[in-house]
Amino acid sequence: MATVAADPRAKYVAGGTNVVDLMKEYVEQPSLLVDITALPLRAITHSSDGVRIGALATMSEVADHPELAALFPAVVQALLLSASPQLRNMATIGGNVMQRTRCAYFRDVSQPCNKRAPGSGCAALRGVNRQHAVVGGSEQCICTHPSDLAVALLTTDAIVHVQGRTGERRIPFDRFHVLPGAMPQRETVLERGELITAIQLLKSPVTKSSYYLKLRDRASYEFALVSVAAGLDVAGGTVRAARVALGGVAPTPWRSHEAETALVGQPANAATFAAAAQAATRGMRGYGENDFKVALTRRAVARALAHAGGIA
Ligand SMILES: Cc1cc2nc3c(=O)[nH]c(=O)nc-3n(C[C@H](O)[C@H](O)[C@H](O)COP(=O)(O)OP(=O)(O)OC[C@H]3O[C@@H](n4cnc5c(N)ncnc54)[C@H](O)[C@@H]3O)c2cc1C
Ligand code: SF4
Repeated sequence: MATVAADPRAKYVAGGTNVVDLMKEYVEQPSLLVDITALPLRAITHSSDGVRIGALATMSEVADHPELAALFPAVVQALLLSASPQLRNMATIGGNVMQRTRCAYFRDVSQPCNKRAPGSGCAALRGVNRQHAVVGGSEQCICTHPSDLAVALLTTDAIVHVQGRTGERRIPFDRFHVLPGAMPQRETVLERGELITAIQLLKSPVTKSSYYLKLRDRASYEFALVSVAAGLDVAGGTVRAARVALGGVAPTPWRSHEAETALVGQPANAATFAAAAQAATRGMRGYGENDFKVALTRRAVARALAHAGGIA
C-alpha cells in the first residue's frame, strides 16, 4: 500500500481483465503492478442488515451465491448480464467498480482524450458518440461508466470499505464515483494507494423487489447502451419507497432522485411508472449520434419499474 501510495504510476491488479487489457493497448503504462489476489478479501458474509462482499470475490462467486439472489436480485441479474462466464470467473468486485470507460477514443492513443491525456481535448464531443453520455458529462468528457454491477449497487445503499495508509474509511457508494467536470482523469474519491477491502450491501424491501434491465446492441457479451436498476417497496398498491439507477447514460452510475420522487406515495401502476420515466430523463441531452438514448432511457425506466412492481 505504501508503494502504490508513493508512486503515482503504480497500480493494484486483481483479476487483471481491465488493467492488463489497457496495458496491451498502451492506454495505461503503470510503473509497477501490485498483485493483491493473495490478500484475504474474498469472503461473502451475512450480517443482520445485509451482506458484506470482500473486494476480491469474483463476479461469478457473487452471482452464484444462493442468498444474494433473494435479497438483491438486481445485483445478481446485473452480474449475470455482464461480460462472459470466463471473464466473470477472473474479474473481482473491487476491480469491477474501478473499471475504466469503454470510450473508443480513450482506448486509442492516437486520439485526443482529456481522460487519458488531460488537456488534449475530447474527440467524442463531435465524433462518434453513439455510446456516450446524455447526462452528467462536461465539455471535457462525455464518456459513460461501463459497470452493470455499479448501477445495481445504487439500489442497495451500498458502502465501500476502504483501507488507506492511515486507517480505514467507509464511503457511501453513491458518493464513490465522481463526475468529470474539469478533471475527467479523476473517477473516484479514492486517494492514491487506497484499497477497496469490501462492499457492504444493505437489505430492504426495495432491494428484495429490485430488477435490472440491460439494453444493448446484441443479446450477450456487450456493454449497456442503457440500463436501469429499479426497486420498489409497494404496500396496499401504493409505492412506499423507490430506487431508480441508470447505466450507459452518464460518466458515473447515475441515481435518478427525480424518478424516485415521482414514485413515492403514488399508486404502483403504469401511469405512475410512465411519469417517473419522464422525470428520469428531464434535462438529458444527446450529442448527435446518441440522441436516441433519451427516449430509450424513458422506455427502459418504465419497463424496469413494471418488472419491479410486478405488473410486467
Ligand atoms: C470483453 C469484455 C467484456 C466486458 N463486459 C462487461 C459488461 O458487460 N459489464 C460489466 O460490468 N463489465 C464488463 N467487463 C468489464 C469487467 O467486468 C471488468 O474488467 C472487471 O470487472 C474488472 O475486474 P478485475 O478484477 O479484473 O480488475 P483489474 O483489471 O485487476 O483492475 C481494474 C482496476 O481496478 C483497480 N483495482 C482492482 N481491485 C482494486 C481494489 N480492491 N482496490 C482498489 N483498486 C482496485 C486496479 O488498480 C485497476 O485500476 C468486460 C470486460 C471485457 C474484457
Ligand atoms: S468522452 Fe471522455 S474518455 Fe472519451 S474521448 Fe472524451 S474525454 Fe476521452
